[in-house]
Amino acid sequence: MSNNEQKQQTGRDMAYHWADEAAAKIIREKGEKELYTCASGITPSGTVHIGNFREIISVDLVVRALRDMGKKVRFIYSWDDYDVFRKVPKNMPRQEELQSHLRFPITMVPDPWERDSSYARHHEVDVETMLPAVGIFPEYLYQAERYQASRYAKGIRRALEHRDTLKNILDKFRDEDHKIQGEWWPISVFCGACNKDETDIDGWDGEWGVSYHCNACGRKETADICSAKNIKLGWRVDWPMRWEHEQVDFEPAGKDHHSQGGSFDTARHVCKDVYNWDAPVTFRYDFIGTKGLPGKMSSSSGNVITIEDVLKVYTPDVARYLFAGTRPNTEFTISFDLDVIKIYEDYDKTERIAWKLEPAKDEAAYRRERRIYELSQAAVGADSKTLPLEDRASPYQIPFRHLCNLIQIADGDIEKALAEVCAKAAAAAPTPEQLSALRTRAVCAKYWVENCAPEEFCFRLRPAGEQAELAEAEITALRLLRDDVIARIETFADDKPCAEAIYAVAEKAGLEGKALFRAAYQALVGKDQGPRLASFLRSIDKERLLNILKGY
Ligand SMILES: [Zn+2]
Repeated sequence: MSNNEQKQQTGRDMAYHWADEAAAKIIREKGEKELYTCASGITPSGTVHIGNFREIISVDLVVRALRDMGKKVRFIYSWDDYDVFRKVPKNMPRQEELQSHLRFPITMVPDPWERDSSYARHHEVDVETMLPAVGIFPEYLYQAERYQASRYAKGIRRALEHRDTLKNILDKFRDEDHKIQGEWWPISVFCGACNKDETDIDGWDGEWGVSYHCNACGRKETADICSAKNIKLGWRVDWPMRWEHEQVDFEPAGKDHHSQGGSFDTARHVCKDVYNWDAPVTFRYDFIGTKGLPGKMSSSSGNVITIEDVLKVYTPDVARYLFAGTRPNTEFTISFDLDVIKIYEDYDKTERIAWKLEPAKDEAAYRRERRIYELSQAAVGADSKTLPLEDRASPYQIPFRHLCNLIQIADGDIEKALAEVCAKAAAAAPTPEQLSALRTRAVCAKYWVENCAPEEFCFRLRPAGEQAELAEAEITALRLLRDDVIARIETFADDKPCAEAIYAVAEKAGLEGKALFRAAYQALVGKDQGPRLASFLRSIDKERLLNILKGY
């Protein structure tokens, strides 16, 4: 389909975004279908970190792109919670108790926080409660439950029937030294007595019976694939079996799975040769780094950063923007340091371009920015399509940097800071919807100032009566600033004439501009520097300013 045809069909101009390209590729390769299935998944064997989140949101963006093309989509998220507990992550409490459950399925490991029914469930709940905040609503599939309900009995039997084919496929990608030695089975069994997977398969009866013995407790039994609750496929067979089972059309995978001869390669062959289904369309997504983590975050989590952590500093829309604005196969870094301000500025610029409040370089740049903006919005529209711009509240931008200053001026009181914004609004005050968006941003700004911002960014206004030690010439200049500028601060239409008036004061006092600034910051916040003075003075309540300066 050409761009024009697509535009006519959907009313939207696609293919300006990588998610639209991926969606178009799915339709091209899988053909026109009633329903497209897009999949993502992970083993909840530890904290689900921001790198794992990249996969979830990559799928979400493609799902939205397909829906915007008018397609019906099933978005499944597989919790691979029938996997074995191999290793206790360092950032978990009650290490010893967890150690004693190694080799159990992770759904049978107790939750060390005693909040949920199991260790696996705890990590699942953490993610499931956060995803709606970023506008992601997959259908969760729980693999332990599905295996134990014998949903995959046929798939397991098929793997046993094709045991040699499977072995050849896996061996094809291995060098001589790593080829499978001795007897090999595509399944593993959790012992029916002690629950550990330290078992060896003794045989298969050619139908539904599998016999095994346990090396840990000595149990020997023959299990029935149709009813047993403890047999599962090995990972490299399990994945492609489920592609066929769920008829998956699209699933991306991390760098580690997408290496030559990696699990995606073998799964592709297994899927085709054993399960007679074409592997899903895929792409590779790259790793994510973090930068400038606040001490609190890195110590509590052992540097494992989750989407919940990211949402402390970035609003849901801006968090989505980080991913929507970057191609999945590019590595990038999520910053918690001063770069946070830059990210918000970039987002605001994209927003202004999307709303045509600022011209884009050219038409293509406009469409690209607008599409990134649409896909960044956590709120979804009808039929889970992206919410058209027309259906959204128009933006009411307060730059993140400025908001941080307003919150500090209000001594950390967000409502007071927002009331100030409304009171000082030059044109129209924000609508309730705009105010709610501002509040979300303000909560992030407050967290950032209090936990992540560099020291030079932070300040506290002096209480009235607390004086700085200043030289006579500085005090004279400060008085002029108070009586010539602050006394008529409300008459300045914006920062520029106010800044000019400040420089005029410096000249009148015979002081360098820099020296006047230093004196003003010392008097106001007890530091040599602070936010840009004109904007700063105009942001503080006039009476409060006069009270701080009245003693000079
Ligand atoms: Zn056992």
